[in-house]
Amino acid sequence: MPSTDPADLPLEKKASLLSGRDFWTTKPLDEAGISSIVLTDGPHGIRLQRGDADHLGINDSLPATCLPPAVAVGSSWDVEVAERLGVAVGREARALGVTVVLGPGVNIKRSPLCGRNFEYYSEDPLLAGVLGAAHVRGLQSQGVGASVKHFAANNQETDRMRVSADVDERTLREIYLAAFERIVTEARPATVMSSYNRVNGTPASQNRWLLTDVLRTEWGFQGVVVSDWGGVYDRVAALAAGLDLQMPGTNGGNDLQIVRAVRGGTLDESLVDASARRIATLATLAAEAEGDLPVAEHHALARELAADCAVLLKNDGNVLPLDRRSRIAVIGDLATGPRFQGGGSSRIIPTQTDIPLDCIRALGTAVTYAQGYAADGADDQSELRAQAVEIARNADVTVVFVGPDEETEGVDRAHIDLPANQVDLIRAVAAAAPRTVVVLSNGGVVSLEGWHDEVDAILEGWLLGQAAGGAIADILFGVTNPSGHLAETIPLRLQDTPSYLTFPGEAGHVRYGEGVMVGYRHYQTVDRAVRYPFGHGLGYTTFATDGLGTTVTGADTATVHVTVTNTGDRAGKHVVQLYVATTAGPARRPTRELRAFTKIALRPGETYSVALDLDRRAFAYYDVELGRWAVAPGDYTIQIGENAAHIVAEQTITLTGDADHRPLTLDSPIGEWLDHPVVGEMFRQSLDEGMTGEAQESLARNPEVLEMISSMPIRQLLNLGGRALQNETLAHMMELSR
Ligand code: BGC
Repeated sequence: MPSTDPADLPLEKKASLLSGRDFWTTKPLDEAGISSIVLTDGPHGIRLQRGDADHLGINDSLPATCLPPAVAVGSSWDVEVAERLGVAVGREARALGVTVVLGPGVNIKRSPLCGRNFEYYSEDPLLAGVLGAAHVRGLQSQGVGASVKHFAANNQETDRMRVSADVDERTLREIYLAAFERIVTEARPATVMSSYNRVNGTPASQNRWLLTDVLRTEWGFQGVVVSDWGGVYDRVAALAAGLDLQMPGTNGGNDLQIVRAVRGGTLDESLVDASARRIATLATLAAEAEGDLPVAEHHALARELAADCAVLLKNDGNVLPLDRRSRIAVIGDLATGPRFQGGGSSRIIPTQTDIPLDCIRALGTAVTYAQGYAADGADDQSELRAQAVEIARNADVTVVFVGPDEETEGVDRAHIDLPANQVDLIRAVAAAAPRTVVVLSNGGVVSLEGWHDEVDAILEGWLLGQAAGGAIADILFGVTNPSGHLAETIPLRLQDTPSYLTFPGEAGHVRYGEGVMVGYRHYQTVDRAVRYPFGHGLGYTTFATDGLGTTVTGADTATVHVTVTNTGDRAGKHVVQLYVATTAGPARRPTRELRAFTKIALRPGETYSVALDLDRRAFAYYDVELGRWAVAPGDYTIQIGENAAHIVAEQTITLTGDADHRPLTLDSPIGEWLDHPVVGEMFRQSLDEGMTGEAQESLARNPEVLEMISSMPIRQLLNLGGRALQNETLAHMMELSR
């Protein structure tokens, strides 16, 4: 704790705490015992700059371990991977004297085109939230603060500093805020970073609903809200909305605005006090650099973690794992100059880099190599291709390394295709080689069309960090049994993606018209074929799932048991994916939604019984009329999936759900009045009594008439002469309906 309560300091001093001293640090206040905080990217390694500073990865930083970026960690489906990665980054932060590491990035992959998808985990908020919480726990266990970013609805790079993400509240709550909510409530991150964009018209950095009503009041966040770099528009409005720390600093300019606003009576000084206190509390984490970077240990860790992230998409005829004695042709520029991270603020200067070809040579006996194509897109590549085809023809198996041009922060992609020269190469090699394996290195999803059926195996390597080469070699030779699963769908065509018509928006707005139907929620609900569904991933062993059993443990909770057996002949890891499907309640629900998962390691023949608790949220939707989460009474089907498209076991339970009722108003339709559990019967009687002659007869005898008018608001009925429905009676019933 600081020696002086920051609130007791002179106004100028307090205000000075609320912005950076420079690009990466805050101002110390020695007289109050408040240290300078060092904030640094993040998320999958430390980017500490000592020289010229920038937030776009342009200038160099000190070497640090480049662990697998979030795109890879998402595919691990493994909290241990996320947490151990967090611990490692935390240790390096301590060794380098960093107080807060900017990450994890938990924005939802709304479109495969988002240029920063490599920094985000998934298209699913549960997966992103659980892994993000594990990252924060690991990082903060080292006494280092996390900064969960970018809050919120920052799902594209196009116009990211101005665009308004126009999202309805249910979609925000269920899809775009849910991961943040889980992390804030479960892992208590030291800071949350507001995003550059607007949310429903208001800049996130001065969005009071987001930063105060939801984040602090509803979720109980007690840490510091920090701006994204340069993402403050109106400093006074931002502070009033709940933004504590503006980064980087503005040489005191904005601090002065705060002082003037307080003196001018337009800003409450208590807000300055509260933010100053929070920043002073955060500053207690500041510490001198201590210890060395555990370079070798963390490189080995980077390799181990990366190998648990890559996803084996296809493995016809068990071409993988490779036999060490076979003749192996390795092809591709990316086999010697690997791509293992994206561009922009998360770019790390690695401590060392594994070259895939070297790592394959270290494990194989007869390995040849040809460049195949020039990643920099040199003109005529026919000569390179011919050499590649030649070595492929003379090998038992050919491994082709391909991937798109570098993806980077600040720019969305225009398409999801591999470079044409690489597609041509794959096809030419596959036609000549006895067996072909393709290894992909990409931050965002790439299309597999045009060559998928011509190759035997595909390893989706994403961006795996500095030890990518070693991890890929481990998987190719079976040193590691691949266990990654897709955290995002691979579509057949970009046109099939749910945000295709609205991404990235126009005239300053991007309308999230697909609502909650993001990723597999969309593909499953509209029954659209995809190349590989969310959750898909193969390994070198097989698993069987039996004995699904569900116990309802309350009105809106259940526990699910399922038994998994490793039926193959290798040790391996299996992901149990639990989806819930329902049509209960008034909101349109996706066909199924991931509600729990766990990854377990099993030896050959080993059986394990998994128990998964489903809390209220596993069944809830956000009810915009009630302004809260609701569990509708009704049936819920518990589904265990190999992936989002392939369910292997299911069981339906009935939940009592919420006991309270939707209050009736004059705008409630007649159908709701009639169905209301408390006043429905009373209303039916009043309706009968109020009608005379023919009208009464037809209502009583002819349910179709009732159906016809069931969507008519009661106010309308009154206007049309529902005379006998006494206003006092209706008022009484409305009172009772609450
Ligand atoms: C990015 C953040 C990053 C910050 C500092 C911004 O451009 O959006 O993710 O943490 O710069 O480098």
